[in-house]
Amino acid sequence: MKRKHIKKPEKQRKIALERITILFSEAKKIFKEEPKLADKYIKLARKISMKYKVKIPSTLKRRYCKHCHKYLVPGTNVRVRTHKGHMVYYCLSCKHIMRFVYKK
Ligand SMILES: [Zn+2]
Repeated sequence: MKRKHIKKPEKQRKIALERITILFSEAKKIFKEEPKLADKYIKLARKISMKYKVKIPSTLKRRYCKHCHKYLVPGTNVRVRTHKGHMVYYCLSCKHIMRFVYKK
């Protein structure tokens, strides 16, 4: 059976987004003591985002590595540099480089 691409109801998507935001803030709280748990929260947030087809807000997108999906904390496991109007994030765990447009 082919899976249809139907968008989930708006209400469900809104709840999904809320849960994603909560997971990110929980990951932030717990990162110091339990970095592995923080990574788990990110994994969960990504799962919710995929299931409900909601985008992870751009402000949260730079909080995890697109490659190894680890929660990133500048000065700990990610190196942040600005380069020609871009923010360059260098993940220290997988050596993956991400670029974001620098917003004022
Ligand atoms: Zn990484």
